Amino acid sequence: MAHKVTLIPGDGIGPELTEATRRVVEATGVEIEWDVQLAGADVMDQFGGNPLPPQVLESIRANKVALKGPITTPVGSGFRSVNVALRKELDMYAQVRPGKSYEGVRSRFEDIDLVIIRENTEDLYAGVEYEADSDNAKELTTWIKSKGDKFRFEDHVGISIKPISEEGTRRVVRFAFEFARANGRKKVTSVHKANIMKHTDGLWLRVSEEVAAEFPDIEFEERIIDNMCMQLVQKPELYDVLVAPNLYGDILSDLVAGLVGGLGMAPGSNDGDHAHVFEPVHGSAPKYAGQNKANPTAQMLSAVMMLRHLGETDAAQRMEDAIAKVIAEGKDVTYDMKEDRNDPTAVGTSQFADAIIEVLGSRVPA
Ligand code: NAD
Repeated sequence: MAHKVTLIPGDGIGPELTEATRRVVEATGVEIEWDVQLAGADVMDQFGGNPLPPQVLESIRANKVALKGPITTPVGSGFRSVNVALRKELDMYAQVRPGKSYEGVRSRFEDIDLVIIRENTEDLYAGVEYEADSDNAKELTTWIKSKGDKFRFEDHVGISIKPISEEGTRRVVRFAFEFARANGRKKVTSVHKANIMKHTDGLWLRVSEEVAAEFPDIEFEERIIDNMCMQLVQKPELYDVLVAPNLYGDILSDLVAGLVGGLGMAPGSNDGDHAHVFEPVHGSAPKYAGQNKANPTAQMLSAVMMLRHLGETDAAQRMEDAIAKVIAEGKDVTYDMKEDRNDPTAVGTSQFADAIIEVLGSRVPA
């Protein structure tokens, strides 16, 4: 029976990347009934100014699985990030961001195989933030002063609240341990800054330790975020699965993308108890939109994660192997994967997909 999947092309380079990816997924032979749903800045005028129309959420709620292209967030327009809204609306509390080395990709590092699990709904991304002269900010500063805290609030000061809850922490740390167990991984490292933020990151660390005790078969350790960054650059081979609050997780996943060749190589998923949205770490790269130029690897590797989630493990492996083969050969790849970014032999997004489809087709079925 065909799997039902919501397909959100997104905007910027999103439509070209998702189209290339859809063709490759179909070439694996897995049957998918795609429900194409438009969202984002380019289509908001069609939906009364709403960049995230209700039918998109309804489709994901019904299908439970979506493949999504990146979506632009215009700066300073009062427009809510569609990406953050989607994660909140569907309560997708965990983000999985693997960083894996592939032969033929330009990077100073080899044999990286890390997974960042990022908390996706709380922390400084909760959007509880006040302008200095708002009533809320004034009320808060008065309250903080009444507690005897020494910070000087006389000048203009923006205030951002960092909520980290026991329940929010417990479910994402459990998710990380369950992910480790299900994927044959040996160790979970919880990342924090509990030495400074005792009530937020302190809670995160305490709950991490409690959850770790439920998983005696998986090794547990903790690292302070700044040390974690240095360790990942110096000795990435010592780490396996990392679990982190929202902001640290966001930064760490770009750092890990850098270790494996850049944003073009970094796939991801957003996971909750009722919905899973697979999308690359990178954004909509508006300057390359419509040019058939952008690297579709991260979008395609996100689809590989989706196939695994759907139980199509054989197809997922064949798709990943075909992508890896084309990258290792280094011939039919996009400009950013060439030694010289101006190499005239670089191919476009869609020709890169054609090369992968050819590899998939040439394999003798088992
Ligand atoms: P970006 O990831 O779009 O681009 C960063 C840099 O990487 C740019 O130089 C870009 O050209 C390059 N790049 C990104 N993806 C590439 C690819 N597949 N192939 C080749 N080069 C690639 O980040 P940005 O410029 O900060 O953001 C652009 C827009 O995307 C913003 O509106 C942002 O809010 C949005 N965004 C969306 C998502 C999402 O949909 N999940 C994630 C991040 C950013």
